[in-house]
Amino acid sequence: MKYVVVSGGVISGIGKGVIASSTGLLFKTRGFKVSAIKIDPYMNIDAGTMSPLEHGEVFVLDDGGEVDLDLGNYERYLNVTLTRENNITTGKIYSHVIERERKGDYLGKTVQVVPHITNAIQDWIERVAKIPVDDSGEEPDICIVELGGTVGDIESAPFVEALRQFQFRVGPENFALIHVSLIPVVNGEQKTKPTQVAVRDLRGLGLSADIVACRCTHKLEKATTDKISMFCHVGPDQVLVVHDLSSIYHVPLLLDQQKIVEQLSKKLKLEKISVNPAFV
Ligand code: ADP
Repeated sequence: MKYVVVSGGVISGIGKGVIASSTGLLFKTRGFKVSAIKIDPYMNIDAGTMSPLEHGEVFVLDDGGEVDLDLGNYERYLNVTLTRENNITTGKIYSHVIERERKGDYLGKTVQVVPHITNAIQDWIERVAKIPVDDSGEEPDICIVELGGTVGDIESAPFVEALRQFQFRVGPENFALIHVSLIPVVNGEQKTKPTQVAVRDLRGLGLSADIVACRCTHKLEKATTDKISMFCHVGPDQVLVVHDLSSIYHVPLLLDQQKIVEQLSKKLKLEKISVNPAFV
């Protein structure tokens, strides 16, 4: 099982969900079976009780799970059927750990965020990633894990720490990270500083980006790409742009042109990356 984590820096609502779904779709065109997990670091058990005005519309899964609308993106882009377990929230993790504590599963230990919550997150990801999501009934090859919110937020901290540990649990060749960041344009100039700081924050928490996906109004200038590469510890080929498009369904093509699959496959040591003719 290969895991591709998508995290975000600078601001929320930056396009992580679309980039995560598009990356999954591109792997699917190469013949891989792809699943997806969305992490929402809020205390609600699910999105069912949240105002759509505040959170966007609630997506209802086949099993009745009321979840974040990104799960709808995954189902449409990947043509899969997900379950409520594919949406992890802080509320679900805490309630799972507290339930186990009441049963005495921790054998007198002090139950703590590290290691009990962080272990529960990792166990959940590992378990749910293996659940078949299409008609084949086979275990997926790749699981896209989208971390909602922004890295550095208090509420996402246990998830970031769990993912930091997870890269060692599953091994570096099974774990890749796309960090989505913002390139604001100020007085006509593309500014890289927020991205430099976001990637530095991420590295400070023990996670290194394999791809820095830059959201910008326009394509990146070469000088911008070079600067991000120099300051963010990635090669220029690992700096991708996802500029504003008239339709989010163009994002997969944009990422394909920039060879995201080839870049991730190098990190994940995947060989089967030729385009499956069935998907052309
Ligand atoms: P996040 O997962 O980071 O919260 P989403 O993927 O839900 O962000 O995207 C936030 C909003 O931005 C959505 O309405 C989406 O349609 C829009 N969006 C994302 N990427 C693009 C793009 N490249 N061009 C135009 N709109 C985009």
